Amino acid sequence: MLGRRAAVFGACALCGCSGAVHRLPGVGAGQLGLASTEIAAGALPARRAVTDGEVLATLRAAQARLLGPATGVCREIGAGTCEWRFRATGDRSMNASAMGDGLIVVNRGIVEYARSEDEVAFVLAHEMAHHAADHVRRAGRNTTVGAALGGLLLGGLAAAAGASSVAGDAAQAGMRAGAGIGRLSFSKEQEREADYIAAVMLHRAGYDLRKARGFLVTMARASTRRETGMLDTHPAGPERLAAYDRAVAEVLASDGRLPARA
Ligand SMILES: [Zn+2]
Repeated sequence: MLGRRAAVFGACALCGCSGAVHRLPGVGAGQLGLASTEIAAGALPARRAVTDGEVLATLRAAQARLLGPATGVCREIGAGTCEWRFRATGDRSMNASAMGDGLIVVNRGIVEYARSEDEVAFVLAHEMAHHAADHVRRAGRNTTVGAALGGLLLGGLAAAAGASSVAGDAAQAGMRAGAGIGRLSFSKEQEREADYIAAVMLHRAGYDLRKARGFLVTMARASTRRETGMLDTHPAGPERLAAYDRAVAEVLASDGRLPARA
């Protein structure tokens, strides 16, 4: 795994595409230590039992609430695509991914491990942010995207505005048909930037940023037993949690402004 990640970083460095669009706050040793202690202190995360209907309802609710504010943030950034398409899969691993032309794939496992809609919204916003900051196109040159995605298309702008809907049976069949997620590796800077932008989107959508961070803690704890596929595309640990906390402090202080450009 380390070797593969190093190879991706190497490729990105060559094409100069691994950086962030914005200036991001630094993380001190003290903050890193606190985050490590917090992660180590809690129990390993457990799945909740959820029906297919609940999974879809949660994803759709988060998508609908985020869409307007996130589109505004995306247009302010003015770098990548703001026309997202959401696809849910029945895969039970804790994973989500941004790929292709505005496509966001979310596994059932995200909702199973999330303890609130705020946490699910954080995952969606993080993937939307990868598109908004143009990380996907920049990383895409080094990527092989999964060929067959059988999951349900949750719909883009039109669907969220109520222009289309999917019948329950078809939706559930789509969930079960979900296939694997493509491998797309972003740089550490891009991951931190996606978390920062996600915090801005969540704040403007009225989500609780402190509740949302629960998913970063869950991912970090899950990583100790290497159960999450999320780690392949979204390395999680004390550093990411501490950086998120710095971002949240800035977002709350500025009432939801984007950071200065890099
Ligand atoms: Zn990411």
